[in-house]
Amino acid sequence: MADLEQPQVIPAEAKTEVNWQALAQLQLKLAAVLDFEALLQELLREAIANTGAKSAAVLFLETLSAGSPPILRPFAITGYTTSSIQPLRETVGFGVNDADDPALAAWKNRKLYIADEATPALKPLIEALQWKKWAGASAYVGDQLTAAVLVELDTPLSPTQQDWLSTFSAGAGIALRNSRLHSQAVSGLNARMNELAILQRIDLELSEQIEPDHVYEMTLDWAMRYTGSQAGTIATFDEATNALRFVSELGYEGAVETRAMMRNASRGGIARRVANSGRSDNIPDVASDPDYMPVAAQIRSHLSVPVNKEDRVIAVISVESRKLNHYTDDHMTFLERLAARAGNAMDNARLFAETTSEREKLSRIVSNIGDVVIVFDENNNVLLMNQSAIPVLRLYADGKYEGKPAEEVLSDTTLLDVYNKSRPYHQPIIEEVVMPNGRAYNAQLSWHANIGRILVLQDITSLKETDQLKNELISTVSHDLKQPLTVMNGYLELLQMTQPLEGRPLEYVRSAQRSIGNMRGLIDDLLNLAKIESGIQLNVKALEVKPLLQRCVDDIRGAADAKMITLNFSVTPDDLCLSGDLTSINQVFSNLIGNAVKYTPPEGKVSIKAEKSGEAVLVTINDTGLGISPEDQARIFDRFYRVRRPETENIEGTGLGLAIVKRLVEIHRGQIGVESRLGEGSKFFVRLPLGTMESSSLEAEAAP
Ligand code: ADP
Repeated sequence: MADLEQPQVIPAEAKTEVNWQALAQLQLKLAAVLDFEALLQELLREAIANTGAKSAAVLFLETLSAGSPPILRPFAITGYTTSSIQPLRETVGFGVNDADDPALAAWKNRKLYIADEATPALKPLIEALQWKKWAGASAYVGDQLTAAVLVELDTPLSPTQQDWLSTFSAGAGIALRNSRLHSQAVSGLNARMNELAILQRIDLELSEQIEPDHVYEMTLDWAMRYTGSQAGTIATFDEATNALRFVSELGYEGAVETRAMMRNASRGGIARRVANSGRSDNIPDVASDPDYMPVAAQIRSHLSVPVNKEDRVIAVISVESRKLNHYTDDHMTFLERLAARAGNAMDNARLFAETTSEREKLSRIVSNIGDVVIVFDENNNVLLMNQSAIPVLRLYADGKYEGKPAEEVLSDTTLLDVYNKSRPYHQPIIEEVVMPNGRAYNAQLSWHANIGRILVLQDITSLKETDQLKNELISTVSHDLKQPLTVMNGYLELLQMTQPLEGRPLEYVRSAQRSIGNMRGLIDDLLNLAKIESGIQLNVKALEVKPLLQRCVDDIRGAADAKMITLNFSVTPDDLCLSGDLTSINQVFSNLIGNAVKYTPPEGKVSIKAEKSGEAVLVTINDTGLGISPEDQARIFDRFYRVRRPETENIEGTGLGLAIVKRLVEIHRGQIGVESRLGEGSKFFVRLPLGTMESSSLEAEAAP
C-alpha cells in the first residue's frame, strides 16, 4: 500500500515529459481512498507538490435540491479547514452551464485554463482567495463536468506540469465521486444507526412513563433535539369533539396565557390542519402558509406530524426552526417514527390518568355520602369503606380496615347476621337493623359479579319516628271518626223502626247506610294497617290449613253465590299446618279470596289450593276474573292503589287490602306474589312457614 503522507514529487525541470507510470500509480492510489475529506486533502497536496503551486483548491459539483441546477463549489482549499471553508462554499459556487465564461468554455473542451485574472463565473472565488495567477483543469464523469482542480501560480507552469495537471485533474473526478458516495452512504448508515439507537431508548423510557405530562415532555424534547428545532409543541386532539389542546411546549417566550390566547385565536393553525388531515406537513417557509400562527419571533420553518392510535389522530407534534427550509425528509421520517412510539405511551398515559381521576372522583363521592357504604370482595374482605361507616360500626377513625374480614368489621352488630344470611345467595337482601348507636338503618346487601358484596346502610330513624307519629295520628283520628259513624247508623236504623219507609225514602236511607259501611271499612283498614306498622303482637302457633280456609270460603260463599261463581278449594296433605297468627292469617286469606270473588265477573271460577312446598306452605288463589296488567301488578300492593279501569269502576274498595296482606305475610317471614293476564284471570300465591308443634320461635322474633 502506498504511503499517502509522502507526495510523489516529480520535479518539472528534471523531466520534459510527464512520468505517466508514476501518475497512473498515484491515481490508482487516490482511487482507493474512500474517505472523501481525506481524498480532498490528498488532491491538494499532490497538486501543489507536482506543479510547484503556492496553494490549490478542489471544486466539486453539487445538486442542492431536486430540480435545481448543479453548482460547482470549493470543497478543499489550502489553509482552510472543513468548517472554515463552509461559509465560502455556500457563497462562491457557480453553475457550470455558462458558455461565455472562458474557463468553463475551456473545461468543456477538457482543456487546462490558465489565467491572469478571474473569469466572470469564478470571480467570487478567485477574489475571495486573492489569487493573482492561477490555472484550473476539470474532471468529467461521463459527460458531466464533476470537479475541478485549481492551483495558485507564482511562476508559470511548464508544459509538463500543464500536462500533469490536466491528466491528474481528469482522473480525480471518478475518485471524488466514488468517495463522496461512499462517505454519504457511511454517514447515512451512521445516522440511521444513531436514529435506531435513539428510538430504542425512547421506547424504553416511554414504556416506563405513565404520567401524561412526562410522556409529552420527553417526546417533545426528543423531537426538538433530533431535528435541531428552536421551539415545539404537542397538542392532544379529540376527533369526536374536534378539540385541540396544547399540552406541552418548549422554546417559546412570554406568558403561557398570551400564547394560549394566540393559539385560540388562530384555532390551532397548522397543528389543527394536520390533526384533521392525518398527514404530516413540512412548511419550508412559514410566511407562505396562511394557517401559520406566529407564536415565537423569527420562526421561519415548521414541521407537524400526527400521532395516531389505531385509525384515530390523538395528538400532533410540531417543531419550529429559525432557519428557512430547515426540515428534511429525514426529520419528518424520524418524527413520524417517534410519533408511532409516543402514540401508545400517550394513549396509555391518558387512560391511566382518566382511570386514576375517575377512581379518585368515585372514592371522594363514596367517602362523602351520608349513607354507610362498604364493599366486600369475593373472599368477604373489605375492599372499600367510606367515612360514614366509622361511627356507625364503632370503628377507629385512623384504623386501616381495607382487607379486613367481614366478621371483624361487622362484629357485635346485627349486620353480621344479615351478612352471613346473604352469603349463600346472590339475591339482594334488604332488612331493617338497629345499630349499637341506637339508630335504625335500612341495610341493603347486593352481590355483584367480579366485585363481591356491596353493603349500604341508610339511616331511617327519623322516617321511623315520623311513621310512628303518622300511625298514632291515623289511629286516633280513625277512632274518633268511628264513633259518629256508629251514632249515624244507629239513628238510621231507629228511623226505619219508628217510621216504616218505602220507595225513594227507603232507597235514600239504604244508600246512606251503604256509605257508612264503606267508610267503616276504610277506617277499619286504616286502623289495621296502622296497628301492623306499629308492630302487632303475633300469637304464632301451628294452624291447620284446611279448617282455616274452610272458614274463609264459608264467609265469602254468599257473595260468590250471588254472582254464580264456583268456589272450591283443596289442601294436600289433609293435615297440612302452617305457622302463624290466627287472626292475621285469616285476614290474609279472607282478603285474597274476597278479592278473587270481587274482581271475577258472574259465572266465573275461583279455586284455592294449599300444598306443602319444601319447608313452607304454598297457597294459591286462582280466579278467572278481570286480570291485572303488568304495570298494575307492580303497584297493587302499594297503599291506596286501586286499578282504574272501566270494569273496576263500580267495584268498591279502599286500595288498602293488599297492602295489609303483604305486610302481614312479611311479618310472618313469608312471601306473596301475583301472576296475571289482563282479561284472563289472576293467580295470587302466598308462601308461609310450615307449622310444627313447636313453631313458637317465630313469635319471639315477630313480636315488636
Ligand atoms: P281494593 O280495596 O281496591 O280491593 P286491594 O288492595 O285489595 O284494594 O287491591 C288493590 C287493587 O288490585 C284492586 O283495586 C284491584 O284492581 C286489584 N286486584 C286485587 N285482587 C285482584 C284480583 N283477584 N283480580 C283482579 N284485580 C285484583
